[in-house]
Parts: sequence; C-alpha cells; structure tokens
Amino acid sequence: MPARDPECIFCKIIAGELASQIEYQDDQVTAFHDINPIAPVHLLIVPNKHIPSVNAVEPADEAMLGHMFTVARELAAKFGLAERGYRLIVNTGDHAGQVIFHLHMHLVGGRALGPMLAR
Ligand code: 5GP
Ligand code: ZN
Repeated sequence: MPARDPECIFCKIIAGELASQIEYQDDQVTAFHDINPIAPVHLLIVPNKHIPSVNAVEPADEAMLGHMFTVARELAAKFGLAERGYRLIVNTGDHAGQVIFHLHMHLVGGRALGPMLAR
C-alpha cells in the first residue's frame, strides 16, 4: 500500500473509504469526478501515493507523474474532449488556491474555457 495520510480526503477516496465517482484506477493513479464541477467534464487525476503538492515532488516520482499525463490524454479522448481541447490545471499553494493538499491534476473541458487567468 502506498504512503497515505489518514486525514486526507483524497487518500480516503483512493482507498474506497469515501464515496466518489471513480473513472479510472491503476497501481499508480486514480481519476474521479470533481464533486463541484466547473465545466461539463471536470475530473481529478491524483497519485495513489500521498504527495501534498508539486513542492514535494521528487525525481523518483517522475514515471508516475508522466503517467498522469497519459491517463489525462486517455480520459480526454474517452469524454470526447480531444478535438476541441481541454485544460489541465495543477494548483500549488495558497496563491494558486490549492484547497486539497494531495497533488491533483484537474482535467477540465466540454465548453470554451475562456482566458487562462483573469488579468
Ligand atoms: P484545488 O483548489 O485544491 O486545486 O482543488 C480541489 C478540488 O477538489 C476542488 O475542485 C473541489 O471541488 C474538489 N473536491 C473537494 N473535496 C472533494 C471530495 O470530497 N470529492 C471530490 N470528488 N472532489 C472534491
Ligand atoms: Zn492524500
């Protein structure tokens, strides 16, 4: 069993202890629907191992981190997003609005998403 934080919501989702709509799971990553979607498709792709944020990423995580992109590509295709496009977002820390401190990649699409950031 990979390292986990007993207080972490996403660790509980990965372990099946907290209900969520899981879309994909393998030995490295889990993908599930965001509970409060900002677009028609809003998935979260997370490492099964508890990594609090990008600030805690290590070289040993590189294969798993790359795998997150492969899973993102597969899910984007599955949900019909490949042609028109989608956005992958990884918030890190307070200024970025990170709320859950278990590393996650948002996969958002299904509508025109507008400019990346407000100016
Ligand atoms: P952050 O701001 O940390 O990048 O995004 C955290 C995301 O996690 C938010 O979009 C929020 O809606 C989602 N979220 C928070 N709690 C839960 C939960 O219990 N289940 C699911 N599926 N998503 C959650
Ligand atoms: Zn966690």
